[in-house]
Amino acid sequence: MKIHEYQAKELFRDYGIAVGDQAVITQADEARAAAERLGGKVVVKAQVLVGGRGKAGGVKLAKDADDAVAKARAILGMDIKGETVDKVLLAPAAEILKEYYVGLVMDRGTKKIVLMVTREGGVDIEELAVTDPDKIIKFPIDIAAGIDEDALVGVLTDVFEKPGLIEQAADTVKKLYNLFVEKDATLVEINPYALVDEETLEALDAKVNFDDNALFRHPDIEKMKNPEEYSQDEIDAKEFGLSFVSMDGDIGCIVNGAGLAMATMDLVNLFGGRPANFLDVGGSSNPGKVLNAIKIILRNDNVRAILINIFGGITRCDDIAKGIVMATNQIDIKVPLVIRLVGTNQKEGRAILAEKGFSVSDELSDAVQKVVAEGA
Ligand code: GDP
Ligand code: MN
Repeated sequence: MKIHEYQAKELFRDYGIAVGDQAVITQADEARAAAERLGGKVVVKAQVLVGGRGKAGGVKLAKDADDAVAKARAILGMDIKGETVDKVLLAPAAEILKEYYVGLVMDRGTKKIVLMVTREGGVDIEELAVTDPDKIIKFPIDIAAGIDEDALVGVLTDVFEKPGLIEQAADTVKKLYNLFVEKDATLVEINPYALVDEETLEALDAKVNFDDNALFRHPDIEKMKNPEEYSQDEIDAKEFGLSFVSMDGDIGCIVNGAGLAMATMDLVNLFGGRPANFLDVGGSSNPGKVLNAIKIILRNDNVRAILINIFGGITRCDDIAKGIVMATNQIDIKVPLVIRLVGTNQKEGRAILAEKGFSVSDELSDAVQKVVAEGA
């Protein structure tokens, strides 16, 4: 899950990380009062969930409150990488002497949290990682042992020029690390981490991504969720208890179990097709879930055929079959359904489907080939 910069800055503030004052507005007129409160000269920043706002024209300096209204008007409604700007953040315009970058990411390979820091901040860090990777210093942190403070100071000494700045940066990294671990983040980033006067570093931008699978234990974070991050289909699917991800192919997939769903998508690709979605109906038996799954898949006009692949364990094939029958009774399904149904109560399930004229495959590869041919 992603959050906006202003939300990340609020979280930073909770953790004692230095961020400036801010205001968030949705109407350009509101910029005047906000800018006056913030000291007149402000930076106006698009709040979207994608990076590179600066380059896209979504970050502008305003010289006074009137100018802030004009800049807010210019940014609100802007399209940045497919996201429409409906909120802008105003913050006192800082004078930037130097821009650093500080970030923490989860490295699955080494099972460590890796601190990345560079004196080449402000720029696109992904680009720097390609063009000049040696300029990014990496410091792996063992999650069980925590931060080795002496080693951390050693690393920061190579980047920050003065003892006072090294101390501030070390303090910030420790607080970012606490946030990362306590809130189950997957990325925490400050870019630019700016030198705003000779003695002071400040987070002028803030980015935090969270592990969706850990959100259940962070209701405070879940509350920050922004609907624009998820497609309406994904939001509805979640409400129905389905694990669903939209994709850009044309073969709808309904599968029980995430592993089998992944394998099914691989097979669809192998036989030359392209999945329209990932969908795991879950382990429990519930005809209603199948009905909801079919409804959500059919909202996508690209879908030309649907593959239902069930390997019943806890999931009972008769319940799945009842769900398919319910769906065909309630909705006018115009695309072919290809069904593979084996496992618990398969005889009962097949009998229910046979009565409705459906044929069922035993073999997954047969079913996948058939659905790919139907979709072509
Ligand atoms: P991003 O492009 O989405 O990462 O947005 P940022 O918040 O990082 O802003 C982009 C750039 O705008 C920064 O790298 C700075 O150079 C500049 N910027 C942001 N805030 C300020 C500010 O308060 N004062 C000045 N002078 N520049 C700023
Ligand atoms: Mn930035």
